[in-house]
Amino acid sequence: MSAEATNPATPGPITPAVQRRRGRPRIDLRRLGRAALLGPAGRDRLPDAIGHVVEAHRAHHPDADLDPLRRAYVLAESSHRGQMRKSGEPYITHPLAVTLILAELGAETTTLTASLLHDTVEDTEVTLDQVRAEFGEEVRYLVDGVTKLEKVDYGAAAEPETFRKMLVATGSDVRVMSIKLADRLHNMRTLGVMRPEKQERIAKVTKDVLIPLAERLGVQALKTELEDLVFEILRPEEYAHTRELIVQNSSRADDPLAEIAEEVRGVLREAGLQAEVLIRPRHFVSVHRVSRKRGEMRGADFGRLLVLVNEDADCYGVLGELHTCLTPVVSEFKDFIAVPKFNLYQSLHTAVARPDGQVAEVLIRTHQMHKVAEAGVIALGNPYAAPAEEQQDGDGARSADGERADPTRPGWLSRLLDWQEAAPDPDTFWSTLREDLAQDREITVFRPDGGTLGLPAGASCVDAAYAQYGEDAHACIGVRVNGRLARLSTVLKDGDTVQLLMGQDPASEPSREWLEHAHTPVARIAITRWLAAHPASATASEAPAETRRPAADGPAARPAAADVVVDRPGATVRLAGCCTPVPPDAITGFSVRGGVVTVHRVECAAVERMKNVGRAEVEVRWGDSSECRVTLFAESFGRPHLLADLTEAIALEGVAIVSATVEPPSQQRVRHTYTLQLPDAAHLPALMRAMRNVPGVFDVSRAHHQSPTP
Ligand code: MN
Repeated sequence: MSAEATNPATPGPITPAVQRRRGRPRIDLRRLGRAALLGPAGRDRLPDAIGHVVEAHRAHHPDADLDPLRRAYVLAESSHRGQMRKSGEPYITHPLAVTLILAELGAETTTLTASLLHDTVEDTEVTLDQVRAEFGEEVRYLVDGVTKLEKVDYGAAAEPETFRKMLVATGSDVRVMSIKLADRLHNMRTLGVMRPEKQERIAKVTKDVLIPLAERLGVQALKTELEDLVFEILRPEEYAHTRELIVQNSSRADDPLAEIAEEVRGVLREAGLQAEVLIRPRHFVSVHRVSRKRGEMRGADFGRLLVLVNEDADCYGVLGELHTCLTPVVSEFKDFIAVPKFNLYQSLHTAVARPDGQVAEVLIRTHQMHKVAEAGVIALGNPYAAPAEEQQDGDGARSADGERADPTRPGWLSRLLDWQEAAPDPDTFWSTLREDLAQDREITVFRPDGGTLGLPAGASCVDAAYAQYGEDAHACIGVRVNGRLARLSTVLKDGDTVQLLMGQDPASEPSREWLEHAHTPVARIAITRWLAAHPASATASEAPAETRRPAADGPAARPAAADVVVDRPGATVRLAGCCTPVPPDAITGFSVRGGVVTVHRVECAAVERMKNVGRAEVEVRWGDSSECRVTLFAESFGRPHLLADLTEAIALEGVAIVSATVEPPSQQRVRHTYTLQLPDAAHLPALMRAMRNVPGVFDVSRAHHQSPTP
C-alpha cells in the first residue's frame, strides 16, 4: 500500500503542488536520531540533524537567518543528551520533529527556534533566564508559554492550569499555540508506546481542546491529521472499517476523480485560464463522515478536486467556466471568499456531476489562500513584524468585520480570555473551556454604534449583553432586535442588529431565568457568580415576591411538598426571599410560573396579597434536613470594629456567612444584612441571642417582607 493510501492527511509543504508531497516519505526519525547522536558539527556548520528543518524553512523563507536555529539545536541537543523517549529514541528527535512540522507549514524563524527549545526548560537544567540571555525575549516568551506547570505544585489541576496559562500566553502571542499544536501532533503520532488508558485520555483532550483550537486558528493540516489519530484511538472499529473502504477504493481500476480532473483541465485550458487541478484525498474522518451521510461510497466521494489559481479574480473565472461547461450542483456552491469563515479560511466551494450521477466536490482558491487554508496563523509569519516584512501578497483577507481585523487575536480568543479570568477554579475553567470550544460556528451581530459582536451560533440577547458589557450587563432591562423590542431570551441570527437597553439602577439584579438563555461562558459565569453572592436577596421590596428578580433557591431546608403537589411531581420548590422561612416556621406555598412552588411563612404579607388576587395555596411541609439558610437584619449603633465583632460572634456559633451587606450609617445607626447557613434550624434563637449580645447591637430580626424600621 502506498503512503498515500495509508494516510491521506499527511501534512507537508503547502505550495505549490499537493501531489508532490504525497509521494514523499515521512522523515525517518531513526535517521534523525542517529544524526543527533553524532552530536553537533563544527561551530559554524549546520548540524546534519537539522538539515530537514533548514531545507523546509528555506523553501518558505529563502533569506532566513539560520544561526538562531543552529544555536538552539546545539543547546537543545546537549541539554537533552542522555534522555530517551518512551519509544527508545533520543529525546532530541521530538523537538526536531515538532520543528520540522512547523517549518513545513511555513513558520518563521523565531517560532522554529523556540520549538527546538520547547522542552528544555521543562525537562532539563536550562532556565528561562538562560533562554532569554541567549535567544532574546520573544523566544523566552514562547518557551515559557508551552512549558507545563508542575504536578508537584498543582496536583490534578496541573493540566487545566497549564492550558489556561498557554491560552493566556497565546492571547499575547499566537505562536505559543502553533508550537503547542505541533508538539501535540508529534506526541499523538508516537502515542502507540503508551498504555491504552493513557492513549485514550490524551486523545480525548486532543479532541476536545486541541482540535477545536487548530480549527479556530485555521491550521487545517494539523487539524486533519490530529482528527485521524484521535479517530484511530477512540473509535478503533469504525477506523478499521473506514480504512478498509479506502483500501478497496484504491485498488479499483477506474478513478472517476481523475477523469473529472482531466475534464476540468481541458475546460480551463480552452478558456485560457492558468490553473493547477489537483486531487485531494479526503482524510479518514472525512471519508467516515461522507460514508455516514451518503450510505454508499462511490469513487468520486473519496477525494475532492482542488483548483489553484494565481489571482483572486481567477477564482470566479474558474467557477464560471465549470458552471457553464459542466453540470454544477448548485446547492453545493459556497462563497467563502466574499463571506469568509471566522478562521481566515477562504475558498469557493462547488460540485459538478457526471452523466453517471457521480458528484465531485471542487475547491477553488489562490495559492496564497491555499497556504492560509492549510497553515492558518502559522502562515501569517511573524504577527508583529511590520507589514512590509511579512511575506504576504495581499490576499485581501482582512475584512472590516472585527473578527478578522486582527488574525493574531481573533474575537473568540478575546472572549475566551475574558471569561477565563472569572473562572477561578480549574474544574470550572476546564469544563467551560471544552464546552466553549464545542461551539464551533460563529455569528456576527451589529450594534447601533456600528460596532460588531462575535457570538457562537445559538447565542441569545443575554449572551450579547454580557459579551458587550461584562458584569454590568446585570443592569440590562431590555433589547431591540432589528429595531423591534424583543425578549432577552431571543436567539440571535447572523447579521441581526442588537440594541441593548441598560437600566441606571446600580443595584440591578440579573434574573435567574437568564441562566437558561445564556450559552456563552462569559454570561453563564457572570450570572452564576452573582447568584452565588446573593443567595436570597432579602432587602425590603415593594414588589410582591413573585415578581422580584432572583430569590435563589435555598439549597438546604427544601420543604418536601405534601399531597397538593401530587399531580405535579418534581415541582421545583423555592423559598421566598421576602420572608426567608426556616424550620419550624409555619409555611404555605403558591404555585407560580414554570411549575415552581414558592414557600412563604404564613404571616408574610405576600401571602395575604396572593390570596387576595385569587391564587390557590399549595400545602407544603418541611422535609427532614434540618440545615437551613436564613437572612437576618442586625440594627446597631456605629462604632469601630463592630462588623468584625458581629461576624466573629456568628462564626463562634458555627454558622457560615453566605453574604453580608452593610448599609451606610444614617444618624449613627447601621443596618447589616446577613444571609447565613445554619447547620441546624433549631439553633437560630441561640444565634440571634449571640448577635444581640454584641455591644452596640440593639436589634436582630428575621428578614420580613415589611421589615421594621427603627
Ligand atoms: Mn514536547
